[in-house]
Amino acid sequence: MAAFQYFKHNTSKAADLLGLSEEQRTKLMTPDRVLRAELTIPLDGGGTASFPAYRVQFNNRRGPYKGGIRFHPAADEDEVSALAAMMAIKCAVVGIPFGGGKGGVSVDPKKLSHTETHALAREYVKAFAEHFGPDIDVPAPDMATNPEIMDTMLAEYERIVGHKAPAMITGKSIGNGGILGRDTATADGAIIVLRALLKDQNVDASKLRAAIQGAGNAGAQAAKLLSDMGVSITALADSQGTLVVANGINVELACSIKEKEGSVCDAGTQMGDDSQILGTEAVITEPVEILVPAALEEQIHQGNAKDVKAGIVLEIANGPTTPEADEILAAQGVAVVPDVLANAGGVTVSYFEWLQNRSGETWTALQTSDRLEEIMNDAYRDVADFALFRGVTLREAAYALALSRILEE
Ligand code: GLU
Repeated sequence: MAAFQYFKHNTSKAADLLGLSEEQRTKLMTPDRVLRAELTIPLDGGGTASFPAYRVQFNNRRGPYKGGIRFHPAADEDEVSALAAMMAIKCAVVGIPFGGGKGGVSVDPKKLSHTETHALAREYVKAFAEHFGPDIDVPAPDMATNPEIMDTMLAEYERIVGHKAPAMITGKSIGNGGILGRDTATADGAIIVLRALLKDQNVDASKLRAAIQGAGNAGAQAAKLLSDMGVSITALADSQGTLVVANGINVELACSIKEKEGSVCDAGTQMGDDSQILGTEAVITEPVEILVPAALEEQIHQGNAKDVKAGIVLEIANGPTTPEADEILAAQGVAVVPDVLANAGGVTVSYFEWLQNRSGETWTALQTSDRLEEIMNDAYRDVADFALFRGVTLREAAYALALSRILEE
């Protein structure tokens, strides 16, 4: 099933719960605008290359379109539309005044030099500038884009419009209007939600084990926060494979090895004699209590869902569980904390950055973390109570709550 079909599937289920009309369903499933362009950049070695680019403005019922821009080979219209739709849901789940948007360039970022990457960033803004603006559509980083690229995009936008507009984009570098804590916000938000869930379940974190897929920004921060809570990280995977240490991985060491050598799997015997390297998919079925997919889409699917041992799946990645897998996990009694709640901390802190830029004030790290804690806890409570009251999964509850909030506007 393609990504946009997943969104439609989840939305239909929630629409059934809410008893929505055909007209309401169609409205909620149709993007306002799909913008397309072909971006051409000069190559360092001479000549040029062109890449298809998209910006999908899904819906702005609750505020300006909001969502990241990814540079990824799989970024096509279907995927970008699904992610834009999910942004609208996510912003409504946490109750921030934004709609949903997403951008993508279909490119392998590993094949571009620094100069080529930044040329692509400028071309992206040139192509869609008239559709961006602090009150219109506010992009942010996503896969393979970062604060430096956001800075370049903002500079290009300000050059085109001829005035300062720092609130046009979030996830900027700190010196350029970015906010302290945006880099760790996605994982921070997910762990706040996990702590609230464990409290509801009356479970002591220090007795738990976790397996984490993804040792990039979000995965590494989640691993660090979980081990600070006393959770033993027994499996950590990246694109090269899964590092398994039954007694618990030294997360700091594993991340520094990845930085130096390229993969957590280069740890060798540094992690102790009982460490093992397994295949990339092995992380999903490791014997743990908490599974954290923090990398790619469709990682828990019909083929491996029944072998998931974890009782909690914390979806830091967007779309890591297919609808078929979702049903299998629900039947097994697994609590899946859905992406639209679990990873909404990123866009929530983007909202703080947007507020900071608009007011000219500077938020402290403490202000940001306190407010994030409050918003994520409230969102979790609303979703968990709805799920309990209606006897549905957390995903169904999150979608239903979000759809009703979008329709209220
Ligand atoms: N790309 C992130 C997401 O998928 C953040 C979007 C934002 O900050 O606007 O939620």
